[in-house]
Amino acid sequence: MKKIDHLINGKQVAGRDYFETVNPATQEVLAEVASGGEAEVNAAVAAAKEAFPKWAGLPATERAKLIRKLGDLIAKNVPEIAQTETNDCGQVIAQTGKQLVPRAADNFYYFAEMCTRVDGHTYPTPTHLNYTLFHPVGVCALISPWNVPFMTATWKVAPCLAFGNTAVLKMSELSPMTAARLGELALEAGIPAGVLNLVHGYGKEAGEPLVAHPDVRAISFTGSTATGNRIVKSAGLKKFSMELGGKSPFVIFDDADLDRALDAAVFMIFSNNGERCTAGSRILVQQSIYADFAAKFAERAKRITVGDPLDEKTIVGPMISQAHLAKVRSYIELGPKEGATILCGGLDAPANLPDRVKKGNYVMPTVFADVDNRMKIAQDEIFGPVACLIPFKDEAHAIELANDIAYGLSSYVWTENIGKAHRVAAAVEAGMCFVNSQNVRDLRQPFGGTKASGTGREGGTWSYEVFCEPKNVAVSM
Ligand code: NAD
Repeated sequence: MKKIDHLINGKQVAGRDYFETVNPATQEVLAEVASGGEAEVNAAVAAAKEAFPKWAGLPATERAKLIRKLGDLIAKNVPEIAQTETNDCGQVIAQTGKQLVPRAADNFYYFAEMCTRVDGHTYPTPTHLNYTLFHPVGVCALISPWNVPFMTATWKVAPCLAFGNTAVLKMSELSPMTAARLGELALEAGIPAGVLNLVHGYGKEAGEPLVAHPDVRAISFTGSTATGNRIVKSAGLKKFSMELGGKSPFVIFDDADLDRALDAAVFMIFSNNGERCTAGSRILVQQSIYADFAAKFAERAKRITVGDPLDEKTIVGPMISQAHLAKVRSYIELGPKEGATILCGGLDAPANLPDRVKKGNYVMPTVFADVDNRMKIAQDEIFGPVACLIPFKDEAHAIELANDIAYGLSSYVWTENIGKAHRVAAAVEAGMCFVNSQNVRDLRQPFGGTKASGTGREGGTWSYEVFCEPKNVAVSM
């Protein structure tokens, strides 16, 4: 059986204990993974602390060379990493192979370039010259969830290392495999021992001591709102970036380009198995086009291929775990009890699954109509392929419903009226708003959310917020 160990100070460190990581499509055990605790966290933080001064002291151009090399190694190994990722977390190969793993290489290319361009500001006065320096912060704790794990890990590791910090990365216990590969590739790229450390394990045993460690200066966390809240309470004074859950509104006005809006709406709730933080899971549709939209949307949802995630044609693969499958199914059961109508999907297992994946954690893409925004299915993050269609009367009503939610991660507005598009984009309570578009990322954008979706932004110079410490120097003239 394959074993995955911790990576501490450039060396594979065996676990005192191991847990299994399972393929959610087949239930096959893929590897035994070292289960870390306080001792491993302490060793990893100590290694990162020791490596920090030398790494931070390198010219940015030298760090950039090594980071770019890591991007090259990822780019060279896309098929292998994508297959491992698909097997470990069930994200379909069309996504991991063509988008998510190539994007991980881009994360390294982007921040390699960017770290050579960190500059400062000057604020001259008649008596003083003020200028800013951006220092690295020190040891950073990087904590990742199980959905799109490789891309998320690299989105943290790349800026963290590029700006001169060192890291202890903890992946979700449900999808640790590709990050283990990232650790190997970082060493192969020549990134010195101790700069990137990996401790595997559960949130309570490995995550908690990591975020509470006094030598950890910054935490970049992506995961659920509940865990984010727990970390903020227990970690003490540190820099934070909290990328948390969402239940994003996808608002379609009656003057929208309906075919494009339909394509984007289908993509934003059913791609990545619906296990996507920025999913457009509350689809708000203007009353005058609601019936037509609902029929067409359900028609498209019925045609979605559910199947083997290693098959290029599959759109929806298995849910990450049996526990998560049970959670998603519990909402599908709840919907009709709350008064919603199932237009397609439901609790029946998908028909015609290939033999290889018959035991997988599958759920049918499900569409609920007649949803009231106050229902639990509309308020809770289901994190699966379940869409809620909610009617609205006019612009004011759309904004009211869009904002009537604890979360504030992403939002989507569809209208051909440019004034309305800008008004709604400004009024919606979310960290991001896409107008007449699905979620399209530019690495310079500030990524992150408001309200229960988190604090802090990452991407481009916004990543300074967590990974750099600005200092003002005031020189008397
Ligand atoms: P989770 O909160 O259960 O776990 C996330 C990570 O935190 C895991 O590595 C876990 O082991 C660790 N953890 C758990 N308890 C901890 C503790 N007390 N201290 C430190 N670490 C701890 O989330 P999940 O189920 O893995 O991921 C799904 C969630 O992530 C969804 O809510 C989704 O919206 C969110 N997410 C957000 C974004 C974003 O950018 N905003 C992106 C992807 C996923």
